[in-house]
Amino acid sequence: MDKPKDSYSQAFKQIAKIANSSLPLKKALNAMARSTAKALKAIGCSIMLLNPQKQYLEIIAAYGLSDLYLRKGAVNAHKSLPEILEGKAVALVDVSQDKQVQYPEAAEIEGISSILGAPLLQKGEVVGEIRVYTDGPRHFPQVEKDFLSTVANIVAITLEKNEFYQVLKAEHEETITKRRKLAETPKLPSSSLRPSRFGHPSEEEFARLLDFYRIEWLYEPRSFPLAWQGNKVSEMFTPDFYLPELDLYIELTTLKQSLITEKNRKVRRLKELYPEVNIKLLNKKDYLRLLAKYGYGPLGGTKVEGINRVLFSHTQIQRRTRALANHISRDYQGRRLVLVGILKGVVCFMADLMQHISLPLSIEFMAISYYGSNTEPAVKITKDLDTSITGLDVLMVEDIVDTGMTLNYILNHLSSHNPASLHVCTLLDKRARRLIDVPLDYIGFEIPDEFVVGYGLDYRGEYRNLPFIGALSPRLIEEEAGK
Ligand code: 5GP
Repeated sequence: MDKPKDSYSQAFKQIAKIANSSLPLKKALNAMARSTAKALKAIGCSIMLLNPQKQYLEIIAAYGLSDLYLRKGAVNAHKSLPEILEGKAVALVDVSQDKQVQYPEAAEIEGISSILGAPLLQKGEVVGEIRVYTDGPRHFPQVEKDFLSTVANIVAITLEKNEFYQVLKAEHEETITKRRKLAETPKLPSSSLRPSRFGHPSEEEFARLLDFYRIEWLYEPRSFPLAWQGNKVSEMFTPDFYLPELDLYIELTTLKQSLITEKNRKVRRLKELYPEVNIKLLNKKDYLRLLAKYGYGPLGGTKVEGINRVLFSHTQIQRRTRALANHISRDYQGRRLVLVGILKGVVCFMADLMQHISLPLSIEFMAISYYGSNTEPAVKITKDLDTSITGLDVLMVEDIVDTGMTLNYILNHLSSHNPASLHVCTLLDKRARRLIDVPLDYIGFEIPDEFVVGYGLDYRGEYRNLPFIGALSPRLIEEEAGK
C-alpha cells in the first residue's frame, strides 16, 4: 500500500502534468478533482467558483459525485464552511450533525460523512473552492489540509492561465456592469440582456424586474427528481428561478392552458415529495402581486412612483447594518452604550442596528426643525434628550449625512453635556455635498449626490415605508417645487 506521502507526491505529479497539458479546461479540472479524491481516499471532489456577487458557489468540475448531488442546489458560501472565505482550509467532520450543511438529505443519500474544503485564491482574493467528500467520518490532519491547499493553488493558476476562464470572468464582469447600468435605467428596458441564458422572454423580463429592485436571484439552480424507474431518475423538474432572500422557487408560466396543466402537475408532485421546498407557479400578474406583497413592484401598495432606481435592496441594507453592528459591538466590548437618533428618518436604521449590537445599551431620540433661509439654514432642537449622557459612551446614529450642518450642530450640543465618548454611525454618507467636515466613525454606504427615499427617509412625508432605498427622480422634485 502507498504511504500517504508517496500518494501525495504522485498526485502532485499528475495534477501538475494536467495543469500543463492542452486538455480543455473542464476536462483538466475534472481530472484534477479525480487525482485529488484518489490521493485523499475520498469518494468525491468538487471545484466551485463564486458567483459575481460572491455569495453562491457554482460547481464547474467534479469527480465521483452523482448528477443528483451536483444539481442539489446553490451552495451559499457564507453559510456552508464560511471560514474558507477567510482563506483557509476547513474540515467538517460529521455532516449529519452540523448545522452548516445546507443539503443534509442530499449528503446522506450520497453517503457523505465528512468534507474538507480549501479556497481557490487569486491575488489573495477567494474566487472559489475545492472540496473533497469522504464516506466515513474523518478528522482531516494538517498534512491533508496542506495537500488540498496546494492543489487549490494549482487549480487557481490553471484557471487564471486558461483563456476560457478569462472569457467567463469577462462575461461575469460584463454582466455586473450591464446589471448596474440596467438598475440605473428608470424604465425596464426591452433590449435583451442575456438572450442565450433564458428559455423564454418572460423569464428575462422577470429577471430584469428583480434586478431593478436588486433582489438576488439564481436561474435554474436546482433540479428535483420527480419520478424513478428502478434506481434511475426518469423525470426531473428544474424551476426557473430561486430567490434566496425569500427562500422561494418560482416557475413562470404563460396563460397557455396546456402548459399550465403540465406545470401544475409537476409543482404539485414536487410539493408532495419535498414538502420543505417553497415553490410557486406564477404568471405575470401573479408575480407582480407577489412582489407587491414584499413591498416591491408596480402593484405594491406603498408609493413607488418617482423612484428612478433602487440603490440598496432590503437585504443589502440588512447585511450592511449587521456588519456595522458587529463592528460596533467589537469596538465597545465591555462598555455600555447610549444610541442617540434624530427623528424621524432614523427610525428604521436605529431599530435594525440596535437589534444586532450585542452590548447593554439604551436609546434616546431628539427632534429638530429647520428655520432660516436656503443660504443660511439654522437648526433648532424641538425635543431634547430625556436623560443625562454625562460620563456615558454615546453613539450618534444618523440616517444620512449630507452637508454635515445638522450633525455638526447636534454633536456640539451633545459634547456640551460631557459624555465619556462621542462617535457617529451613519447609514448613508452623501460626501459630495459636505460643507462641514464632521468625523464619521461608522459608514453604511457612500452615495452620490442624489435625493434618496425609503427605509425611513421621506420626501414631503412620503416613501418612508419602502423596504429599500431608492433615488427620487429629479424631475419629480422640480415639478413639485414648481407647484
Ligand atoms: P445635512 O445637510 O445637515 O447633513 O442633512 C440634513 C438632513 O437633510 C438629513 O438629516 C436628512 O434629514 C435630510 N436629507 C439630506 N439628504 C437627504 C436625502 O437624500 N434624502 C432625504 N430623504 N433626506 C435628506
